[in-house]
Amino acid sequence: MTERLYGPDDSALDGNAIGGLLHEVFGSEMTTAEATCGHCGQTAQVAEAVVYLRAPGTVVRCRTCTSVLAVVVRKQEMNCVDLSGLAALQAR
Ligand SMILES: [Zn+2]
Repeated sequence: MTERLYGPDDSALDGNAIGGLLHEVFGSEMTTAEATCGHCGQTAQVAEAVVYLRAPGTVVRCRTCTSVLAVVVRKQEMNCVDLSGLAALQAR
């Protein structure tokens, strides 16, 4: 189990994999929101981001420059969200 969670990069998914989680966090559909990378400035739909589902958190990376855009860590019943890698996040 641990090996799978910390396995090689073939565990990369896309933003659709966290559609349910984001809906839980933001209360609305976020996979079609437009996220702007704070590092390279690229804007893309959340659904197009690179997502790693790794314990203890979910890491969302820019598909263009691989910078971390967001991290979601679940603690007990709370989702702790770090969006510091985002320059902007605009729901549509
Ligand atoms: Zn980027």
